[in-house]
Amino acid sequence: MMTKKTNNTCNTCISDITRRDFLKVTGAITGGLTAAGALTNNALASSSDRDIPLEDQKALLYDATYCVGCRECELACKEDNHLKEEDVDDLSGNTFTLIKLYQSEDGTESSFRKYQCMHCVEPACVISCPVGALEKSDEGPVLYEPLKCIGCRYCMQACPYGVPAYDWSESYPLIAKCDLCYDRTDGPACATACTPGALISGTRGELLKIAKERIAENPGKYYDDRVFGEHDGGGTSFLILSGVAFDKIGLPPLSEDSIPDYGHTATKAVPYIFGGAAGFMALAYRATMTAEERQELGKKHSEEKGETA
Ligand code: SF4
Ligand code: SF4
Ligand code: SF4
Repeated sequence: MMTKKTNNTCNTCISDITRRDFLKVTGAITGGLTAAGALTNNALASSSDRDIPLEDQKALLYDATYCVGCRECELACKEDNHLKEEDVDDLSGNTFTLIKLYQSEDGTESSFRKYQCMHCVEPACVISCPVGALEKSDEGPVLYEPLKCIGCRYCMQACPYGVPAYDWSESYPLIAKCDLCYDRTDGPACATACTPGALISGTRGELLKIAKERIAENPGKYYDDRVFGEHDGGGTSFLILSGVAFDKIGLPPLSEDSIPDYGHTATKAVPYIFGGAAGFMALAYRATMTAEERQELGKKHSEEKGETA
């Protein structure tokens, strides 16, 4: 006669496996939460809380009215970052900066635009990353740490400029983007290569002064008589002057609030989602404990608090 297989024989092992798994998963999630919490604090630290004041941080000014579309900046970026040549029309794992041409339909208006990471003052990509792989440095550039990256791509969703690119050419794809040539002492490679003077590197304060002087000295030349990135989306360290409307060269209409402060509730929620998941897993783990283990745990807690049984 066949004996009916009951769960009794397996109860212990199922419980053990489940609990081992819970330990691993809660550990991983709690680790993520800790990193996310630390990161959130870093990301939400106002620019005035940073070691280097905003006006003294590294920045880059792009004056589109000086740009002749020679693309020397693209080449210099590729060389300096050891990136492969490729024919693309968007930023990618091998293209950290790209020059594009805008032309009106009737051909009466045109402008070049340099695409790259805007190095936001309070970056949405940083706050959306649950493991701290992106960080706003005190010096200004927004940096990426591939060893921490888990490939979730929340940063791609969060960035209002569509900057972080996934490096599909790699077997383990990672995010790729400009780091404002953080390690170079003589300024970003692209700016060094720009002989027409469309790119100027310096501190954010110096560059805003230069940009505003150009606006004042050339009435009617610059769109809206203002610098894109001084306040847009909370501000950026890649500043742009343009002779045509910003939206025509692909710049999004943003209020002066920082991106993490509005519209990107989902990005702000990421660390809390991790937190909620960790809490849920901890509760579920508790449910697998035996009565004796619960008693033992309670005893330990009492001892730690100095209570007597
Ligand atoms: S090197 Fe300067 S002028 Fe040439 S495309 Fe780049 S930004 Fe424009
Ligand atoms: S432009 Fe995008 S990727 Fe660059 S710092 Fe801002 S949010 Fe991050
Ligand atoms: S700052 Fe450096 S990494 Fe960024 S676009 Fe320029 S050359 Fe490339």
